[in-house]
Amino acid sequence: MKKIIIAIDGFSSCGKSTMAKDLAKSVGYAYVDTGAMYRSVTLYCLRNNWINDGVVDEEKLKEAIPSIKIDFRYNAEKQINETYLNDENVESEIRSLKVSNSVSIVSSIGFVRRAMVAQQQAYSVDRGVVMDGRDIGTVVFPDAELKIFLTASPEIRAQRRYDELKTKGENVSFDEVLENVKQRDYLDQNREESPLRKADDAIELDNSYMTIQEQKEWLLQRFEERTK
Ligand code: C5P
Repeated sequence: MKKIIIAIDGFSSCGKSTMAKDLAKSVGYAYVDTGAMYRSVTLYCLRNNWINDGVVDEEKLKEAIPSIKIDFRYNAEKQINETYLNDENVESEIRSLKVSNSVSIVSSIGFVRRAMVAQQQAYSVDRGVVMDGRDIGTVVFPDAELKIFLTASPEIRAQRRYDELKTKGENVSFDEVLENVKQRDYLDQNREESPLRKADDAIELDNSYMTIQEQKEWLLQRFEERTK
């Protein structure tokens, strides 16, 4: 069966990664979470105190970016891929609200995007990859055979993210999370570099009232249509 590239883009906390991971597992493809890459760069900046009042010290970051190594390693016990920043497992830390609050500023910087996009494109040497993000179908792989653009209402997305953070024991309020979701939507859609938008040939799916299982089956059908 021919191998294809699947690009899943959309708003924050839409469940893109759940959908992408499920499909990759079902069909034996690689999965790349590009948001985790921008989150890792953001964590690196925060640890170095390079973000102050919403402004990033771009000079310092530019100098450091060639030495920021991000990779994904499989955790056999948890059966998931985990994100490593310079050989340290940062999977949990990059999902914190602190990182979420700064990631859209870091991801709007041109040289950061170029460095990440180059790494993302290198993952597809023999296709067979599911990648999720904001610009996968428009910039990273404009030639992807299957493109999905995922949406859901801001309140539903905030509730999903709030439940996830609470499960992890983070002390956050629903309103804080909703504010972060809305702010990232705005910044991601209005930035100059690769703004979030639906590729002309992407299939749009609003999953506000879909279960994870329904969404999984829907995507598997789209995959089968494209690969048969
Ligand atoms: O997908 P996730 O919510 O983890 O992404 C975190 C942030 O990273 C997004 O809000 C966006 O600012 C940025 N991002 C991006 N391009 C991508 C993936 C994520 O700009 N391909």
